Amino acid sequence: MKYDSIWVSAPGKLTVVTKELPEPKLDEVVVRVRACGVCGTDLHFYHDQPTGTLTPLGHEVAGTIHATGKGVRSLKVGTDVVVQNHVACGRCDACLNQRPDACLDIQTYMNDQGGMGAYLVVPQAMVVPFSGLSYEEATLAEPVTVALDLCREAQIRLHDDVLVMGPGTIGLACVALAKAQGARRVVVVGHGSQSVRGRHRVETARRLGADDVFDSSEEFWKAAVKLAYPRGFDRVIVTSPPQTIVDGIELAGFRGWIVYDGISFTDDEVRFHANDFHFAKKRLIASHAIPNWGFPMALDLLRDKTIPPDALLTHIYSLEDLGVALQLYGSSEVEIIKPVISIGG
Ligand SMILES: [Zn+2]
Ligand SMILES: [Zn+2]
Repeated sequence: MKYDSIWVSAPGKLTVVTKELPEPKLDEVVVRVRACGVCGTDLHFYHDQPTGTLTPLGHEVAGTIHATGKGVRSLKVGTDVVVQNHVACGRCDACLNQRPDACLDIQTYMNDQGGMGAYLVVPQAMVVPFSGLSYEEATLAEPVTVALDLCREAQIRLHDDVLVMGPGTIGLACVALAKAQGARRVVVVGHGSQSVRGRHRVETARRLGADDVFDSSEEFWKAAVKLAYPRGFDRVIVTSPPQTIVDGIELAGFRGWIVYDGISFTDDEVRFHANDFHFAKKRLIASHAIPNWGFPMALDLLRDKTIPPDALLTHIYSLEDLGVALQLYGSSEVEIIKPVISIGG
């Protein structure tokens, strides 16, 4: 049987790739994709095509088990699952020393398959069954696991003051998580709060528990933050571009931690003053939620509305309209947070 998926063929250009659906190997499952979230990474791949070759799109996947390999016992055809995009191998020295987070041979389907298509063939270890959410809602589990990793690295304590920079899907999920973890005050910094998108994100941040919001496109925004929070922040979570790490370091208080997650293919060189960093004994930590962890927890947090899916999932498109979704995702004239592609009815 043949099936289609959508790839980037050149910067700003999408193409349909038709493939033959293989039989699943012994420990593999075939997932019929029902929904796939559009991520900032997809937007980078679409605009910049950093690899310069045909690039698959989509890694926030929910669907149903369509077929199973002969060695698969616990997963049945028809079961609803989310698909993890990177898992630990389970066999390397790090994995066998119970450090899967340091796995030396991380497995992914993203080299030659993408979630923006009808099927994925993956090891059974990559799928996590779910219920109680729509497919579109369940795709949010992936960005929520990214937020979980940021908040775990930040080790938010009861009564901490937390600054979240970048009110996109991940930053907004961090707002809700920081509140759930007992933060005293959660403050958000975002860009362009006068635009339609910016205003909506401010409203959503407040709905998810933000106590205060600052607009980093205003000239004296940092002075305003310092005036309102002169001791600085115990934890700063940076989900905005690399250059904003510098602001995060500056706004962290004595012994403050700064945790960063982000990518720029064009501008990732950062300069900052090391003296303040040194004397105030700050810590700068990278988060990268790969190999994936926390999917069952993320699904629970969405189901119990600790992170309400309807706050993040703003737009649903069909696969034919993926190009439209990618265009609107970058627009400041739309109340957009997370667009999800619904696939195959
Ligand atoms: Zn993503
Ligand atoms: Zn491993």
